[in-house]
Amino acid sequence: MALDDYRKKRDFTKSPEPAGAATPPRKKAGGPLFFCVQKHLASHLHYDLRLEWNGVLLSWAVPKGPSLDPRDKRLAMHVEDHPVEYGTFEGVIPEGYGAGIVMLWDVGTWEPEGDVDAAFRKGDLKFRLSGYKLKGSWVLVKTHGFGGAPNSWLLIKHKDEWAGPIDITTFAPLSVKTPDADFAEILQGKTPDLWLSNAPAKTGDTGEMFKKIIARALTMKAPARATTSASAGAGPLRRDRAAARSKKGAGEGGHDAKNTKAKASKTKTAKPKAKMAARKVATKR
Ligand code: MN
Repeated sequence: MALDDYRKKRDFTKSPEPAGAATPPRKKAGGPLFFCVQKHLASHLHYDLRLEWNGVLLSWAVPKGPSLDPRDKRLAMHVEDHPVEYGTFEGVIPEGYGAGIVMLWDVGTWEPEGDVDAAFRKGDLKFRLSGYKLKGSWVLVKTHGFGGAPNSWLLIKHKDEWAGPIDITTFAPLSVKTPDADFAEILQGKTPDLWLSNAPAKTGDTGEMFKKIIARALTMKAPARATTSASAGAGPLRRDRAAARSKKGAGEGGHDAKNTKAKASKTKTAKPKAKMAARKVATKR
């Protein structure tokens, strides 16, 4: 089973993560494919890119997160398949594998550019994303062990109208699932039942690591708040709130990329569309 590795690593009596259905939900062939990026504050901050394929989520852990700049080659470690139910998970993993805080950072649909299984085997997977933060054409290229582990790939943005010199992880750092939520709010506000009933051990390595994670979550919270109050809502918090709001009006599986694109292209400016889309996120009320 594709999810054996995923389940072996986790104790679902201690983690709020979904175990996944015994048989993956059947979907209509040719329907839209789901993608997400989960920002995961664990022992190290990283971003988990997940692409729905054959009833599971193909997954890569990207330490620095995706970049809209085609010159950036972001290391992406291929990890175990995740259940499709994982794709909208946001919350606290109190202990065990992946202990920390998970934020749903981007969500939408993806389209393969070519034969996925062949491309995956070859280690050259080209695809298009239609999320709130990530759009357009991308590639995952396997490094084939050159200068890295056997599971190391590179995530690269192709040059297109959605590429641009924007540090998207800084520009839009917050949740697209819970409006306004940064890590601290996910930790404090959206407390899963399990987190209440099963707080992490106060001693031992897990306890120590979790203290560090909580401290870091609170540190990361401060700049976003300061920016927002200082610039009357023009900070990253506001942008993400707008992104989360726009989601409410969108249909199942993401938003209307065509609509966004059309509006962005109407604007008379030489600026890259990625920048326009980012501004749209910032100004949409
Ligand atoms: Mn992770």
